[in-house]
Amino acid sequence: MLLRLRPSATTSDREALQRLAREHGYEPSFLGEQGLVVELVRRSGVPEPGDRVLFEDLSFVGGVLDSSDAPERAERTRGRADTILRVGEAAFGGPYVALIAGPCAVEDEGRLLEIALAVRASGATLLRGGAFKPRTSPYSFQGAGREGLERLGRVSAEVGLPVVTEVLDPRDVEAVAAVAEVLQIGARNMSNFALLAEAAQSGKTVLLKRGMMATARELLLAAEHVLARGNERVILCERGVRGFDKVTRNVLDVGTIAYLKRATHLPVIVDPSHAAGRADLVLPLSKAGLAAGADGLMVEVHSNPAEARSDGAQAISPADFAELATTAAALVRLDGRRLVTCKEALGTAGKAAEGARS
Ligand code: PEP
Ligand code: MN
Repeated sequence: MLLRLRPSATTSDREALQRLAREHGYEPSFLGEQGLVVELVRRSGVPEPGDRVLFEDLSFVGGVLDSSDAPERAERTRGRADTILRVGEAAFGGPYVALIAGPCAVEDEGRLLEIALAVRASGATLLRGGAFKPRTSPYSFQGAGREGLERLGRVSAEVGLPVVTEVLDPRDVEAVAAVAEVLQIGARNMSNFALLAEAAQSGKTVLLKRGMMATARELLLAAEHVLARGNERVILCERGVRGFDKVTRNVLDVGTIAYLKRATHLPVIVDPSHAAGRADLVLPLSKAGLAAGADGLMVEVHSNPAEARSDGAQAISPADFAELATTAAALVRLDGRRLVTCKEALGTAGKAAEGARS
């Protein structure tokens, strides 16, 4: 690790730095004519992730020039393979690609069941559906709340798909974790560190969506809040960032998907639905995400989009989802990966994935 000292750093500042560094197992060397650059080498083994914060906040330190020898937990250090996360029959990362599908929001139970059965038959391995909805307007449908969680629990048990659902409030983490295998932290909460801490402590998989104005680095550091609490089950999700053009709801940041696949060992998935904001662009954006290296997709599906209580314009039909799954299976086969589907998935995606297995 390389530190730059402020020109005003005094001899006693340097002595304090030496003491602090040695206490934490680092040997400091003062470089350059004025000794304003300090190299810290860890005496035993690799530097601990997060050690840079010991030094960067000191009043006489101007900045950390290079922390490349102090990897963070999300970082892909040289030669490190993908982390593969399995949830039920789904697997994300390495050679595995999986699909998460379901309505934007949990509505009535019959509707949820109908959608869940359809997406499972076409190749989805996880069921999505929001019980707590982060709506921009307080006057829009806010979700079915705890009652919605109960519906998710019953439908999940009946269909055999584990649930991905959003948690908005640390006080709901326990209730959400009781029905969901994957806790979604939505774009609006990416940097809600109290919520991340609570979600991490549940021990469940955390699906962390990129904030609509967040940089890739900020997303990785948000993931670090979960990893640093000992929960290594984090999936990152690109869902589009704010742009100026209203023809799409957001701008799917394909470059960042490709970048993240290099920068981190964690699985990275794509939500083409919130990126597009319109059903007719969900398939092409799904293809773009997978081509950039994404380990999965999360797609909003509704059996009657015109009646959907939220995000109807971007919901695709079960038939379109079946087509998307078939395309995804074929596409990922091109780069030696395979779409993981439930064993008895009926659709051609299931068959294509089955074919890829043999
Ligand atoms: C969602 O997935 O339902 C959602 C609200 O997404 P985002 O947080 O990406 O807007
Ligand atoms: Mn939605």
